Amino acid sequence: MLTLVAAVAEFFLVLAFALAAVLLNAIDAQGFLASAMVGFAVMFGGGFPWFVIVAVFFTLGVAFTLYKYGYKRRLGSAQGKGGARNWPHILANGGLASIAAIWSLASPGPVPTVVFLGAISTSAADTVATELGLLSESQPKLITNLSRSVPPGTSGGVTALGFVGSVFASLVIGVMALALGVLSDPYLVLPVCTVGGIFGAVFDSLLGATIQRTGRCVVCLVPTEKLRHCGEKTKATKGARFIENNVVNVLSTVAGAAAACVTLAALSPLL
Ligand SMILES: [Zn+2]
Repeated sequence: MLTLVAAVAEFFLVLAFALAAVLLNAIDAQGFLASAMVGFAVMFGGGFPWFVIVAVFFTLGVAFTLYKYGYKRRLGSAQGKGGARNWPHILANGGLASIAAIWSLASPGPVPTVVFLGAISTSAADTVATELGLLSESQPKLITNLSRSVPPGTSGGVTALGFVGSVFASLVIGVMALALGVLSDPYLVLPVCTVGGIFGAVFDSLLGATIQRTGRCVVCLVPTEKLRHCGEKTKATKGARFIENNVVNVLSTVAGAAAACVTLAALSPLL
């Protein structure tokens, strides 16, 4: 009986969180279904602490997106629609984490947990690095050629401030995972989250500098990775057309999860 009550409460908690996200304009209306799906998969696959981890990532993302939003909009690099994320973005960032949660239900163990933490740490690190990097006073450098400066918002552009942001975000996920007992060993959970998150975010920038579709706004002429800018379709200037930002996000969560698993394998004999 108590488990049924808990399950019903968890069901409504996921819906309430997704609804609050829509009402706060953190996601658009179509994003409601996508975030509820990710929420259910994580809550019922991984359990309540896993859901809290996703909620923390989401809150971090919203906070850093809205921080100095007006300045980022003047730069032409702010997230569109007042910062509201759409359903492809939500599935790109929450997809692997959802799969890992369902996987952990089927076969509980450290591997699906570490895949989940690596994926979420990557999404958190990448989001915070991107949003904080836009505020950097020094010009971003291209990750594949650090002597070359690129305009803010360029895919593959990196800043020291953005890197600090990715370390911070990964550590927040790691500390939360430790506090919630998702992985109980601090000598495992913190390296797993920081290595996974930082590797995933760097991998994201590497793809951004090489194969990601880069475009230019036909109205305001800023370089952008978005498919639409100023209400018009952007013109592709570089990269593979079908590798847009969400595809890069999916590949990066896979890379971050893989790096987290390598960390687990490397540390396991020592623990
Ligand atoms: Zn524009």
